[in-house]
Amino acid sequence: MATNQRVRIHPAVDNGVKQGNPEFSGGVLTCHCTNRLVKIRVGAQTAHNHVCGCTKCWKPEGAIFSQVAVVSRDAIKVLENGDKLQIVDKDAAIQRYACRDCGVHMYGRIENRDHPFYGLDFVHTELSEEEGWSAPEFAAFVSSVIESGVNPDRMDAIRARLRELGLPPYDTLSPPLMDLIATHAANRQAKPAPAAARQNASPAPVQAAPKASPLPQRSSVPTPPASEGRSIIGRLMSRLLGR
Ligand SMILES: [Zn+2]
Ligand SMILES: [Zn+2]
Repeated sequence: MATNQRVRIHPAVDNGVKQGNPEFSGGVLTCHCTNRLVKIRVGAQTAHNHVCGCTKCWKPEGAIFSQVAVVSRDAIKVLENGDKLQIVDKDAAIQRYACRDCGVHMYGRIENRDHPFYGLDFVHTELSEEEGWSAPEFAAFVSSVIESGVNPDRMDAIRARLRELGLPPYDTLSPPLMDLIATHAANRQAKPAPAAARQNASPAPVQAAPKASPLPQRSSVPTPPASEGRSIIGRLMSRLLGR
């Protein structure tokens, strides 16, 4: 029952969410310039793809949401015309590198090693012609579209449309990501957790390792030098992506 089809969310999902290909292993993102295009290689499948209503993410013309996913920062490589990239807001947690000519954000990077998402870069896979990128799974910061000028009266229809598309609407991030952020905060505050508390905790997707301990090593992939600062979510990503 597509009752809300006239509500436009983002061109990549407005006609239905395209499923990703688990075998997909990356592609090239290209900015919107017609001359001297900025090209970025993303050398891995993305994860946690979602549509985002915040006012910071880059959105294509006319869209009220962006579509944004994460990928390990070591998968990003600037291929061409990187001299055109500039950071949109140096004070933001995410340093978004945009093409200075067309304004498209090519990737967002977190330099603060204490940030829960450190180790992950943010990318807009719609900038790639390849098919198979991970599919959007949810809608983040939905209420924030009001800050971009959307009439609050439209919110019921927007949320209904998101649900119809299979993108559950949240006003922050999805519960799993919020849990990861909270876990990161808890681990940073905690002295070594009492054994009893750990035993009572429900099975977590990622072991709460003491901060200083080395990451579990995978023999197949060399660990990047920054790994000691990698966040919980970074390690989760490693596990999810088998990297
Ligand atoms: Zn450009
Ligand atoms: Zn956003």
